[in-house]
Amino acid sequence: MRILVTGGAGFIGSHLCERLLESGHTVVALDNLITGSTDNIAHLSGRGDFSFIRHDVTEYIYLQGTVDFIFHLASPASPVDYLAYPIQTLKVGALGTHKALGLAREKGAGILLASTSEVYGKSPKTVFSEEDDVVYGPTTYSRWSYACSKAIDEYLGLAYARQRGLSVVVARFFNTVGPRQVGRYGMVIPRFVESALAGRVIEVHGDGRQSRCFCDVRDVVQVLPKLLGDPACHGRVFNVGHDEPIEIMELAHLVRSTLGSASEIRLVPYAEALGEGFDDLRHRRPDLTRLRQAVGFRPTIALEQTIRDLAQEMGRAPDPTRKAVAP
Ligand code: NAD
Repeated sequence: MRILVTGGAGFIGSHLCERLLESGHTVVALDNLITGSTDNIAHLSGRGDFSFIRHDVTEYIYLQGTVDFIFHLASPASPVDYLAYPIQTLKVGALGTHKALGLAREKGAGILLASTSEVYGKSPKTVFSEEDDVVYGPTTYSRWSYACSKAIDEYLGLAYARQRGLSVVVARFFNTVGPRQVGRYGMVIPRFVESALAGRVIEVHGDGRQSRCFCDVRDVVQVLPKLLGDPACHGRVFNVGHDEPIEIMELAHLVRSTLGSASEIRLVPYAEALGEGFDDLRHRRPDLTRLRQAVGFRPTIALEQTIRDLAQEMGRAPDPTRKAVAP
């Protein structure tokens, strides 16, 4: 099959490209490199079955030839980006996803939309199921722009499935981690690993008692083609991730012990780290019942392994050239 991956030069996108190539598909990666990097896909270049197009998904996507599947991952993905650049975040959601859905329609392709656990908002629940209500903060606070942008993507995708019969799957990623993820954008594990490797203070935001579930990217990308390849999954939303929680303070200790680091661990108030009034969710854990029933998903890579692999990759290939999103 010929498969398009938008956001293909990003963290999850580059792993997905690899996975699809391993399965014998031809892959086109499309990315505007705003947070991604061609370093992530440099090892794939030169292959006859792989190509890269530098393009912004908010512009018309012109692609010659057939396309069987589209994995639409292009979007700013970190709190640092969406707090600083809400316009780009909202634009890539509504406009970019509309363009990607248009291409899927034109080519008769199935499309998977990368959504996020942020869509659940600040509901007091701790375990989230796909049909749960969503609860957002005020529109005057850009913290919720990413969640709303992704929610619009979901509405759009599901509307295209219902009204136009498009084969659409929505994947709500929970925290996804692994090699090639960078700490600069506020992602917690790469940030901790970078600090531990450099012997710097590991900064834990808030009281450190908040918990998250982390799934290795190599487990996540195994499941995405299965979801899109199964017609029974079309027109549906799936949580994708791990469902074993860990408190963030415990995670800091795990990073330090796994890497044999002597870094000090220090609590930093949210206001200092992410600005006044940042709404953090205490706990966020996916209900994976639907995913398990659909494709039998079981994560296989332990968190310690992910930490070690990320550290090894960072030690080998630090990337000082990464740019932040331009306003
Ligand atoms: P990433 O920043 O590494 O990848 C996103 C890619 O999209 C980057 O390569 C970026 O350059 C590209 N991009 C952004 N705007 C674009 C545009 N307008 N046109 C073309 N390309 C554009 O982040 P990631 O972690 O790989 O995230 C991939 C997807 O998964 C995103 O949609 C994100 O919202 C979603 N997601 C990720 C996580 C996670 O834990 N990493 C969690 C929930 C959801």
